[in-house]
Amino acid sequence: MMWNPEMECMPRPELERLQSERLVKIVKYTYDNVKFYHDRMDFAGVKPSDIKGIEDISKLPFMSKQDLRDYYPTGTFAAPLSEIVRFHASSGTTGKPIVAGYTQHDLECWSEGVARCLTAYGITKEDIVQVAYGYGLFTGGLGAHDGATRIGCSVLPASSGNTAKQLMLMRDLGVTALCCTPSYALFLAESLHKSEDFKLSDMHLKAGAFGAEPWSENMRAELEEKLGIKAYDIYGLTEVSGPGVGGECECQDGTHIWEDMFFPEIIDPQTLKPLPHGDQGELVFTTLTKEGMPVIRYRTRDLTSLNYAPCKCGRTAVRMNKIMGRTDDMLIIRGVNVFPTQIESVIMEFAECNGQYLITVDRVDNTDTFRLDIELRSECYGDMVGQFQSLIKAITGRISSVIGIKCDVHVVEPNAIERSAGKAKHVVDLRKI
Ligand SMILES: [Zn+2]
Repeated sequence: MMWNPEMECMPRPELERLQSERLVKIVKYTYDNVKFYHDRMDFAGVKPSDIKGIEDISKLPFMSKQDLRDYYPTGTFAAPLSEIVRFHASSGTTGKPIVAGYTQHDLECWSEGVARCLTAYGITKEDIVQVAYGYGLFTGGLGAHDGATRIGCSVLPASSGNTAKQLMLMRDLGVTALCCTPSYALFLAESLHKSEDFKLSDMHLKAGAFGAEPWSENMRAELEEKLGIKAYDIYGLTEVSGPGVGGECECQDGTHIWEDMFFPEIIDPQTLKPLPHGDQGELVFTTLTKEGMPVIRYRTRDLTSLNYAPCKCGRTAVRMNKIMGRTDDMLIIRGVNVFPTQIESVIMEFAECNGQYLITVDRVDNTDTFRLDIELRSECYGDMVGQFQSLIKAITGRISSVIGIKCDVHVVEPNAIERSAGKAKHVVDLRKI
């Protein structure tokens, strides 16, 4: 099913014409309205008239998260505040948050993107959608909410937390689709299976839209089995819009990026040169329709690759492969690049593990220590007390073969690792303290 087949299946030459038209317009708009872009382009020796089409995009300077922080709170807004109808802000765990401003038109484009994703997941106006992303400054809650409302779904704005109530409403209202972070979905699934009050057979869930964190194929299999659903990835980021910059289709074979609104590039994060189609590198976005806070060549820090091959679903929009991680999340342990998603993927191969884990990195005598605590399923833990060694050996071996270094693996009892209703915390890096 498609929400907007005309856009989603637009022949690529036509799509490229539309992108070119929109890029020329947005470059002039930002140059005329935002001092930051004006100064950056002048410094780079580029004038809006030099940009004649999408092929000229690499002439434009990049922008980074730090630029958005430096111009906090509204220095990169292109529309006057009288036109801004909504603010969101990033979590800003370190330093100032990034504030995003949306015009009415921006909210319409945003909900259009989410509606395309949810429709691809088979969600229609007949569905009851539980939004268990946090509502508030985080874009997840209201973003999913507006997209589901646009389709005409019955929306349950549950926000995150209060798991027993979430499960009760899910059952009693006959909720058919769940939108939340994959880690919270796993937490809900575990709570459902542990509870004496709820059974999976009482639930009516069929689809899940999970995003805001990178997650693995093994996690998908786990969520699909435990919740009896098809689990789909929805991608987005506050700086560019929010969830719904792209989403998977029914083929679950890559995330279609809604390229008529968000133009993606892949660059080498070191040389900053665009990479050939299919190569892995850093994802860069230019918003083609945003008015409130447009971004031009924004470096996301997400590492992935793009697949321009036609998709079986018929959509022509490019597909982004699973995000390997954020350059920000990448740990360098004993000189080796390690992404938490690689660890998660290994853990999910072992049926004894419940998917919860914590990586702790420290430095002792100038050498990095790398500890991994892994929770076991409650049904396995009791049977295995005192006999963890073979499992630890197997996991250690798999991690060594996947990432190339040894890790100090410990198994812990169920619920020993602190849970979060929002984004999961999988890493403690004591070297930074
Ligand atoms: Zn597709």
